[in-house]
Amino acid sequence: MNLYSIYLKSSTQHPTPTMKQIIILFGPPGAGKGTQSELLSDKMGLYNFETSKILEKNFREAENLPENSEERFVKIDGEKFDILNEKENWKNGKLCSPPYVAYIVINEIKKLSKEENNLILSGSPRTIYEVEKIAPVLEELYGKENIKIILIEIKPEETIFRNSHRKICELMRHSILFNDETENLTICPLDGSKLVKREGLDDPETIKVRLKEYTERTYPIFDYFEKNGFKIEKVNGEQPIADVFKDILNFVK
Ligand SMILES: [Zn+2]
Repeated sequence: MNLYSIYLKSSTQHPTPTMKQIIILFGPPGAGKGTQSELLSDKMGLYNFETSKILEKNFREAENLPENSEERFVKIDGEKFDILNEKENWKNGKLCSPPYVAYIVINEIKKLSKEENNLILSGSPRTIYEVEKIAPVLEELYGKENIKIILIEIKPEETIFRNSHRKICELMRHSILFNDETENLTICPLDGSKLVKREGLDDPETIKVRLKEYTERTYPIFDYFEKNGFKIEKVNGEQPIADVFKDILNFVK
């Protein structure tokens, strides 16, 4: 069974979530966080909160502003952040400034928690700063016992291989991981749009930067979670997509 047969099978069932919960997926680039959050969102009717999409939207808006527009800047705790500088970092595989990301994520989550009870986060928090800001907000909105933290583990070589072969679709930016089943695909099996390489972010040099950022800046987050009494469930991300998904479901049901 591959991703798309799971997708088709599960797309008919949208159980109404009975309790408030938030699932946070972690893992190095290429671990399959995007794919697994799509599946989870579909199977369990959770809202898929993708930080990268929100950032990309902000970047696009900032680029279209007149040159001297003040809207290009965000002021947080007295410090000014240039959205176009943030875009440069992101494009080169560096993480965006933690205060900027935390600000955006917290605003969105507060908005969403009013409309949607259940969320999946797969792109944040990514630094200690962010987790220290974001986790207390999540705890207040959802309760610690309803926050499920899942770490999808893959080896560094696997990160590099997968990302340098990854394609995304033009329409919805569905991420298509490379394997025997997807090797010759040219259109997105979910919406029929063209598959393209993700410009910049998946270049080999950029992937190395992203991996380094993950190891040095994201990985220490797990210390924070452990010290603060959150439980982290680990899943082997090198299994077939369907098996990774099954393991995750075991933890979140
Ligand atoms: Zn697609």
